[in-house]
Amino acid sequence: MNSRRDFLQKLGVSALALHLAPLSGWADSKNKPNETYDGPVLRVAIMGLGSYGTRVAEAMQSCVKAKLVGVISGTPSKVKDWQSKYAIPAKNCYNYENFDDIKNNPDIDAVYVITPNGLHHDQVIRVAKAGKHAICEKPMALNAKQGQEMVDACKKANVKLLVGYRMHFEPKTLEVIRMRKAGDFGKVLFFQGLCGFSIGDPTQWRLNKQLAGGGSLMDIGIYAINGSRYMTGEDPVWVTAQETKTDPVKFKEGVDETIQFQFGFPSGATASCLSTYKMNNLDRFFLNGDKGFAELQPSTGYGPIKGRTNIGELTQPVTVHQTVQMEEIAGIIFENKQPIVPIDGEEAVKDLKLIDAIYLAAKTGQKVDVKL
Ligand code: NDP
Repeated sequence: MNSRRDFLQKLGVSALALHLAPLSGWADSKNKPNETYDGPVLRVAIMGLGSYGTRVAEAMQSCVKAKLVGVISGTPSKVKDWQSKYAIPAKNCYNYENFDDIKNNPDIDAVYVITPNGLHHDQVIRVAKAGKHAICEKPMALNAKQGQEMVDACKKANVKLLVGYRMHFEPKTLEVIRMRKAGDFGKVLFFQGLCGFSIGDPTQWRLNKQLAGGGSLMDIGIYAINGSRYMTGEDPVWVTAQETKTDPVKFKEGVDETIQFQFGFPSGATASCLSTYKMNNLDRFFLNGDKGFAELQPSTGYGPIKGRTNIGELTQPVTVHQTVQMEEIAGIIFENKQPIVPIDGEEAVKDLKLIDAIYLAAKTGQKVDVKL
């Protein structure tokens, strides 16, 4: 445990330096961490070379235990750019038609699916059938049924299914979880999760029901859903929800602009959350017990995450989330490490069940019971 914490702390400090220094400066540094690491390296192909895929690829350049070795893309010009930027050999480049051939490629261990939500289900199942570990972005699928099919396919193929829940490795988040478990806030009674941003281009896939699966809830509200579980340490047993829409032209039928939802937990604690595509800089978690509170704001952005509790400021190191996440994923795959908060497919299915329940509650106006 100590060595893990030391490692994360070192990585935190290094990552902070990385934030300030160009990547090449880091790679050339004498203190390059991989000079001391001689364990297995997770060889990853990224599927979907978009905005987040680009961020993950950059962050992976400072990984010790994980390495970007391949790409799967529908855009040949991007493949060419990535090949030269990351020294990716042609034999590790695929498109959406031929990536099943990855099963014959012994130089790739895992595929990280970073495409629009509506494509994750089929793509992850194809990755599993190719015998490779699947890492999938959130939301893992469009609904719990799809999610369960993905879990089953990966089990059947004997590969891991892990989800890009980067906050599960974020130091201040983990400190709040540690304090809550230690009883520092007393009996937990209330969580508030506010997540949103103002979305631009009306033609983007995030506003297309088929590709996004919904609206803000799928994309950003999922942080409050997932956060309500790791902040309280409980899974909801009931859900209520209300949807409001000010722009029905931009946010069409089935694409939510703003949803508020409430959860009830077995202990009697409750959560009150808001997900929106209409307000910028909305990124706040608040947990209250009968003894004290924790506040994270920003709580789920790329950082720096900031927070305080009734005891004082949270001073844990700032990290590059995707670097730490990929290091930890390598540990989960190679060493069977158990993260403090799971990132496996089953964890994602719980969030998808809650998404299903929130949409149902908003539509019917009824309280929906859930069993995760
Ligand atoms: P982008 O639109 O920036 O990129 C998606 C990429 O997917 C495209 O560039 C394209 O890559 C590929 N793609 C394949 N088919 C399609 C299609 N029909 N329409 C559009 N793109 C397609 O999206 P993001 O990178 O922002 O998001 C991708 C996923 O990552 C989503 O599931 C999102 O929720 C998640 N995400 C997670 C974040 C996190 O912090 N964990 C943050 C941001 C996003 P190519 O041209 O190479 O085929």
